[in-house]
Amino acid sequence: MSNPVLETQSTGSESFRDATSTISKGKRMWLFPKKQTGKIFKWRNYVAYVLLGFLILWPFVKYDGHPFFLFNVLERKFIFFGIPFWPQDFFLFGLTMVTLIVFIIFFTSIFGRWWCGWSCPQTIFMEFIFRKIEYWIDGDSSQQRLLAESKWTARKIRLRLAKVFIFYIISFFIANIFLAYVIGIDGLYKIATEPISQHFGGFISIIIFSFVFFFVFAYMREQVCLVVCPYGRLQGVLLDKNSIVVAYDHMRGEPRGKVSSLHGDCIDCKLCVNVCPTGIDIRNGTQLECINCAACIDACDSIMTKVNKPEGLIRYSSSDSIEKRNPFKFTTRMWAYLFVFTLLFSIVSILIIRRPDVEATVLRAPGQLFMKQPGGKVSNLFTVTLVNKTFHDQEVELKLINFNAELKLMGQQTLHILKDGSLNEPFLIIADELLIKKNKNPITIEVYSKGKMIDVVKTNFIGPVKIQE
Ligand code: SF4
Ligand code: SF4
Repeated sequence: MSNPVLETQSTGSESFRDATSTISKGKRMWLFPKKQTGKIFKWRNYVAYVLLGFLILWPFVKYDGHPFFLFNVLERKFIFFGIPFWPQDFFLFGLTMVTLIVFIIFFTSIFGRWWCGWSCPQTIFMEFIFRKIEYWIDGDSSQQRLLAESKWTARKIRLRLAKVFIFYIISFFIANIFLAYVIGIDGLYKIATEPISQHFGGFISIIIFSFVFFFVFAYMREQVCLVVCPYGRLQGVLLDKNSIVVAYDHMRGEPRGKVSSLHGDCIDCKLCVNVCPTGIDIRNGTQLECINCAACIDACDSIMTKVNKPEGLIRYSSSDSIEKRNPFKFTTRMWAYLFVFTLLFSIVSILIIRRPDVEATVLRAPGQLFMKQPGGKVSNLFTVTLVNKTFHDQEVELKLINFNAELKLMGQQTLHILKDGSLNEPFLIIADELLIKKNKNPITIEVYSKGKMIDVVKTNFIGPVKIQE
């Protein structure tokens, strides 16, 4: 492991890196983490339930008659904070994603995996819903282990069935919530209330996703964070010695041993290991498996209190702070990330603010330069494509400026674009041939909606003059 922050801090042995904490010789080692308690866990509970509340309620929130958030990948329709984005906004979408990635890099370089421990839906559902139900049905760590190792009895079957049933019901609920983000709460309501035959695809999706969530929370669990999640895999390059992570103060704790003035503060009770939902020993140093849930901080604090030692043997700290007792330093690397993020965020904000309600693209009709018209006129044929990016019908007007000519629609008299819709309309620009002095004449077409200019398109009018001036 090249990253110095991931180097072994205390024991000097690297053997724990030979395998992940939960897989040995190709076999999954099932974890039975102890119930978490403590100050940080209390705050994590508050945060988790507030975030859960938002997650569940957002699909019901509408703005201007439409979902506040929608991620309809099937129809390529996205709404963020009430602002609709269309396939034509792909560039903006891509830039927003890049900005988000830079923000994640910036945030992680300072705070490590705080996101994973405090706000990731996987952790919140696992630790604050499913794990709590498991404790309620099966008991704490040791009882769970006993039950798992015991023979099948009527009691065990009853407990297992109860757990599977409750887990599946919650997974079904989660599948519905996530589907509401994709098809909207109205679409979900239709699936729930109308005959299955009319929404067979949606119905099957709910069933499939319910099983996927059930599989994730009943079986996969911490493996999602250890093996599947790409963010977890990136920690080795995102963290450095100045990142604030959940860290064991090996300077203070080692050598570990029973309470005695000959030893450091760690009494080797292993409570920090027993509560860890990813099954690691944080005393080995920062590891990729650590999701920064802080369960080990709470556990160790409770032990320190019992042995009359100061809390914080395991705490949020940087590797540098622990080894050199330096306060947190905002490094050049962090400033660089902040600079790039601020720049990208400003660009994205300006682009979103200035994004027109109707996007207009004007293209010359293929295969034609100009046409002679009666009365000494010459014309160019164009096609305007208008995309309405709002939830309202738009009445659009095209105005030709800086060029002495007439703009004439060929089909309809007005350009009426339905909400969420688009329109292709041919039009002519007709000029007096005598006034055309150049072969290629730059022209500007302003696009107006409700008297307000919403877009400006620049193109050229091709005249019959053969020699360019
Ligand atoms: S080492 Fe501590 S913070 Fe990291 S996952 Fe385990 S309990 Fe959570
Ligand atoms: S909980 Fe604290 S005292 Fe106990 S083993 Fe972990 S670090 Fe040492």
